[in-house]
Amino acid sequence: MIIGIPRETRAGETRVAATPETVKKLAATGKHQLVVETGAGTTSSIPDREFQAVGARMASADEALGADIVLKVRGPTEHELPKLKRGAMLIGLLNPFDAAAVQSYAGTGVSGYALEWLPRITRAQAMDVLSSQANIAGYKAVIIAANTYGRFMPMLMTAAGTVKAARVLILGVGVAGLQAIATAKRLGAVIEASDVRPSVKDQVESLGAKWVDVPYANDEEREIAEGVGGYARPMPPEWMARQAGIIHERCKSVDILITTALIPGRPAPKLIKAATVAAMKPGAVIVDLAVEQGGNVEGSELDKIVVSNGVKIVGFGNLPARVAADASALYARNVINFLALSLNPKTGEFAVPKDDEIIKATLICENGAVVSRS
Ligand code: NAD
Repeated sequence: MIIGIPRETRAGETRVAATPETVKKLAATGKHQLVVETGAGTTSSIPDREFQAVGARMASADEALGADIVLKVRGPTEHELPKLKRGAMLIGLLNPFDAAAVQSYAGTGVSGYALEWLPRITRAQAMDVLSSQANIAGYKAVIIAANTYGRFMPMLMTAAGTVKAARVLILGVGVAGLQAIATAKRLGAVIEASDVRPSVKDQVESLGAKWVDVPYANDEEREIAEGVGGYARPMPPEWMARQAGIIHERCKSVDILITTALIPGRPAPKLIKAATVAAMKPGAVIVDLAVEQGGNVEGSELDKIVVSNGVKIVGFGNLPARVAADASALYARNVINFLALSLNPKTGEFAVPKDDEIIKATLICENGAVVSRS
């Protein structure tokens, strides 16, 4: 079989779906040809010669996209679609919530596997691209915030007097939020955090941050807040209003606010209204990690820093692409672990286990049709 690794062509996408480490493993069985597009690793600091050294052949985009198994970071663009081969296996972040995109992939006749839909079960953890990339985004959000903030993060006692530690508030404490707490802690900030899911409180406190509690008015609210499968659900307007009031008060004394709240398949919940931004201190920094899903913060704009009453709202999208080498390394390991369900890493035998729950959950199109979900 030919396994193709094209160069990513979407604007700002610096990652690559395979690295010399994973190519070496795939080539080791001697049963498959590894075809990497020339320059595919350049923006992740991987020169072509490193792929060649582990057995890959450098080739054109047409060849890499026309392979039997195509490993991608992002879904193919309209220019890439015609190059895919009918019956090929396409693996990547295929944006399964975008019905038009899924339809266009189906039209090529590939079997498309969207890694966003990996089930959150123990066996799938090593394949979980959302977690590996969210972890990087949480780290980078704090680094960007520290870089944008005009003051120190840690408390300092100097001959010229004492500098106060930055006060950081993190809203949404999933994978990205937990890493943001850990990173801000290492930089010496004083941290508070909040989430809709009550189970997160212990994790927040164990990382040395203070939990900001938004109480539930009744059992129904608490049940919705528990979420499903590790993911949050939309909360009732009454709870959202209570949260907004509590967060508004906290924001008055916060120096850095990082928001990461997401609900799969829906626009990001709006947690911070313009009035709350207006109540923040001049010089405060907000990093809205949910900007690509519509944003948690009123006024945040994709790939811009908006300044509002002296508060800087950073809306950079695709933060993992700003840590391209490590983001690619982790993503590529996730992908090879997913591929190992079908491609025996020792013998090189290839057979897709159609009944495997991970395969069933991620398959979005096959034989020219979109896979329907009940
Ligand atoms: P996510 O990116 O979908 O959402 C980020 C956070 O935003 C979540 O914690 C969510 O509860 C929170 N949020 C949503 N709406 C909110 C609101 N209105 N107000 C405040 N917060 C809100 O989540 P994620 O980071 O992908 O993961 C969520 C959970 O799943 C984590 O606890 C993680 O540990 C768990 N997880 C489990 C597995 C596994 O078992 N295999 C794998 C990955 C993640």
